[in-house]
Amino acid sequence: MSTSIRVLIWNEGRHERQNPHVQALYPHGIHEAIGGYLRDEGFAVRTATLDEPEHGLSEAALAATDVLIWWGHIAHNEVSDEVVARVHRRVLDGMGFIALHSAHHAKIFRRLMGTTCDLKWREMGERERVWVVAPHHPIAAGLGESFVIEHEEMYGEFFDVPAPETLVFISWFQGGEVFRSGCCYTRGRGKIFYFRPGHETYPTYHHSQVLRVIANAVRWAAATPGPIPTFGHHPNPPETLP
Ligand code: ZN
Repeated sequence: MSTSIRVLIWNEGRHERQNPHVQALYPHGIHEAIGGYLRDEGFAVRTATLDEPEHGLSEAALAATDVLIWWGHIAHNEVSDEVVARVHRRVLDGMGFIALHSAHHAKIFRRLMGTTCDLKWREMGERERVWVVAPHHPIAAGLGESFVIEHEEMYGEFFDVPAPETLVFISWFQGGEVFRSGCCYTRGRGKIFYFRPGHETYPTYHHSQVLRVIANAVRWAAATPGPIPTFGHHPNPPETLP
């Protein structure tokens, strides 16, 4: 079934060019580290980056996308409002959307949430333990009760997002903070998943369980066939139709 899901991985792509350490971790970009795994899982994967025309997010590119994955950090403000509006429309129309790590401050994620999406952070390479708190949920498929990322940036509560419709993960950090690190939402007909891990200076997108979560989230967020709602004036009561 997964072979038909069309995934577009969007990456800002700046750290990999500007920081030799990040470049060593992700020589072909964060998007290709995730993309390689998802291709092996049988998804139809394309990638796009900020510096492409229309950021690689033309109407045609979005129309051919079932699930859009987003990684951004230092250049959120360079994403054009027109493209943000276009992605927003596609999500309401049923395209899945997965926001990774610092995408919590992406224009599109803040627009979808309607809040500041602010949080606490600290970069000390602390241990992160990700606890599964919705073991029945498809995004938790194949995981144990928890998994560890040896070194990560800390994100702490309060995380200013709407209460998730389903909370799949809570992270604990070595320094003592906790964080709602796997949050599910729906907006219109689109499914949205926020997943916390993925600071650019750590090899997080080579971590097998992190990659498994992303693949699970793609399957979950892909549009499911169902009735397309109609709106507005309905002069003919359905029970009177032949
Ligand atoms: Zn970070």
